[in-house]
Amino acid sequence: MEKISKVLIANRGEIALRIIRACKELEITSVAIFSEVDVEGLWVRKADECYPIMGDVIKAYLDYEVIISIAKKANCDAIHPGYGFLSENADFAKACEENGLIFIGPKPDHIALFGDKMASKVAMKKVGVPVLEGTDEPIEDKKEAKKIAAEIGFPVIIKAAFGGGGRGMRIVRAQKEFDSMFDSATNEALKFFGNGQVFIEKYVENPRHIEVQIIADKYGNVIHLGERDCSIQRRHQKVIEISPSPRLSQDVRKELYRISTKAMFKLGYESVGTVEFLVDEADNIYFIEMNTRVQVEHPVTEITSGIDIIQRMIEIAAGDKMKYMQEEINFRGYAIEFRINAENPQKNFMPSSGTIEKYLTPNGPGVRLDSAAYTGYKVPANYDSMIGKLIVWALDWDGTVRKARRALDEFVLEGFPTNIELHREIVRDEDFKEGNLTTSYLDKKMDLFT
Ligand code: ADP
Repeated sequence: MEKISKVLIANRGEIALRIIRACKELEITSVAIFSEVDVEGLWVRKADECYPIMGDVIKAYLDYEVIISIAKKANCDAIHPGYGFLSENADFAKACEENGLIFIGPKPDHIALFGDKMASKVAMKKVGVPVLEGTDEPIEDKKEAKKIAAEIGFPVIIKAAFGGGGRGMRIVRAQKEFDSMFDSATNEALKFFGNGQVFIEKYVENPRHIEVQIIADKYGNVIHLGERDCSIQRRHQKVIEISPSPRLSQDVRKELYRISTKAMFKLGYESVGTVEFLVDEADNIYFIEMNTRVQVEHPVTEITSGIDIIQRMIEIAAGDKMKYMQEEINFRGYAIEFRINAENPQKNFMPSSGTIEKYLTPNGPGVRLDSAAYTGYKVPANYDSMIGKLIVWALDWDGTVRKARRALDEFVLEGFPTNIELHREIVRDEDFKEGNLTTSYLDKKMDLFT
């Protein structure tokens, strides 16, 4: 890899540390940035160089002019955006290019296309990917919207066109609920995404959320690294992710791989990416969105495929050819990821924060922990509540479930409430063990668990 020898990491927390580790293994110099409240961040210490960004602590990781100027001053040749923050900002990717810096991710046009859920559905449909019935254009007129919803047939879901993180979505089960749901979806979209555009699509009852990990280089080589089952969600946000899906027919699996790789090839996609689908009870598959970044849940795929996704992402950005072709990828076993969140399940999952007083982490065979936490670390209240990810792996599903129980039981994290106990209860649940998982699994069971 000639073109990249020094990378600025435009992120924080566990993903910043994860990227630093990938850089070290590729013998690339890593440069960290940090806000005023992140001085004690582990990634700041582990990077080869670090630079503070003073002022607003959220803006620190979003102010791309400042970030680009640091990268240039530090003589970096590339920027890795991680997930969240600037990772899906097409203008940032473009600004990197204009400043002679490689953006480690897809082309700006692809980021922009897939950042618009409606436009991406249209584009994917054109290349043969099944999508849910719904509107192709933003609808502002409520009356018109209601008419369309009735034509599609209730239940429908109203979604923010530029949404994410489960926000700006409303399920409408009957016509009389439509008006108020439309207003609240639009308002939430405007509040969180600065754009109130919404669209409507058919709501699928009890689907599984299955997503395909893709890697594509600049020379038309597209491979998949298998699927992840992210059905365990709370309010449409992922809590546990599994690879491969414990209950997916081989036919459906193959079809998902085929249409995902074909679509990415036809659209000329480059870099890593995730094609997300819903699979209904009759095994029909529907594309819902494409994520143009490395995802939180990438480790389960790394473990089952043996491929370091971040390293390959950096190589591809540098213009290298795909290092491992499809025939060279061998999938082994099952991996489960548990998102460890600083939040209080007793208080409606309100984010918590504070100092980690005791921290004894699980270890041993088949256990991986991606986290930037340590004893004495003060978790700032300013950012996302996820403080790490516990990932377990074993050859068979039952063994993986038992390993998950063992590893979660070993986990000691004291100082503030977390969701570790919730995970312990989930992995002892019979339906979890049987792999009976749909996107409503956790919301339905929540009363039992907490
Ligand atoms: P976000 O970008 O906010 O994560 P997604 O479009 O990826 O939103 O959807 C997140 C989750 O919302 C899905 O995993 C699923 O649980 C639910 N969802 C989204 N669209 C539908 C739909 N049409 N029918 C049923 N559930 C849906």
